[in-house]
Amino acid sequence: MSGMNCPHNIYIHVPFCMSKCKYCAFYSVANLQPDWKKYADGICSELQFWAEKLGRIKIPTVFFGGGTPSLMPTSTFDQIMSCIQKCFDLDENCEITLESNPGTLDANKLRDFVRCGVNRLSVGVQSLTDGELEFLGRKHDVRQALNLLKTAQNMNLRVSGDFIYGLPNHNEKSVENLCKQINQLKLEHVSMYELTIEKHTPFGQMNLNMPDNETMARMYEAIQGTLNLPRYEVSNYATPGQECRHNQNIWWGGAYIGIGRGAAGRPYIDGVWYDEMGNNERFEKISNETRTVEKIITGIRTTRGVELDSYVLNQINTDWIKKHNDLVALSDKYLYALPKGFLILDNLILDLIK
Ligand code: SF4
Repeated sequence: MSGMNCPHNIYIHVPFCMSKCKYCAFYSVANLQPDWKKYADGICSELQFWAEKLGRIKIPTVFFGGGTPSLMPTSTFDQIMSCIQKCFDLDENCEITLESNPGTLDANKLRDFVRCGVNRLSVGVQSLTDGELEFLGRKHDVRQALNLLKTAQNMNLRVSGDFIYGLPNHNEKSVENLCKQINQLKLEHVSMYELTIEKHTPFGQMNLNMPDNETMARMYEAIQGTLNLPRYEVSNYATPGQECRHNQNIWWGGAYIGIGRGAAGRPYIDGVWYDEMGNNERFEKISNETRTVEKIITGIRTTRGVELDSYVLNQINTDWIKKHNDLVALSDKYLYALPKGFLILDNLILDLIK
């Protein structure tokens, strides 16, 4: 054990949902009445395990993701937060995010979460059309989603809305309309996810008539051109200063621990990186090179880009980068993708790394 380890962000996975959405490939189970005591005890014992490994490190962010963390009783949340505070040194301005779904959270419960430390709420709005919500298998309607956003905004929380685009009938015009409606919500943070069809989901069995790649690319550009928030990551848009610090740290290659089944982490213990597989505290060493490649893959997704250090400079193909200055660029400090590069990020990554 060491008391000298660097700050780590904490991700806590809450794997329960009201029901399964038709596109969902996340690790989550439909269960409205899980054994919350057992769940919280399990989370706390994992936290204690990491406190012994890492020492009393600083925690800049805690992110409760899911699943549907807003289903959690606030007493469960409180137990977990108390345990984090007992084990670690929470930053004074620690960003504490709760992912939520409309229909699981009213003003009273949200106020209780805020009392226990939540200062950022991410809301799974997904669509502003009731028919689409039904198609997606969501259990809420537009009115409930808008109410939750308003309630959270009135409590002066930092609020983010998640939306899905690229449904079978979507084109750039409908996405443009969606973005115009989102602009009216005055959110400071928006995530726009393209609907992807995974085999082992109900949508994967349905043979849906999805928009082709060119239409998808035009929709992506329509978002950038219509949303009144600047993009800071492939799917994320925010007022400058309101970016999700938790995710940003992870994309930029920082250290974090993942707590709960289905949560991965990258702890950095006494100068060594580890791959943490979430369940039962399993973790194994990874080399600096492997960690650097991960950092390039995630960092290039951000508009800031990948910070250049000697490890990064060793891994990137500088000749290729210089030849493709319409796709990527190098500054003194960063390697970053240009708008054209953002459209083909997955291919770009293959060419960027030696
Ligand atoms: S609420 Fe989220 S995690 Fe739960 S089933 Fe729907 S998409 Fe999956």
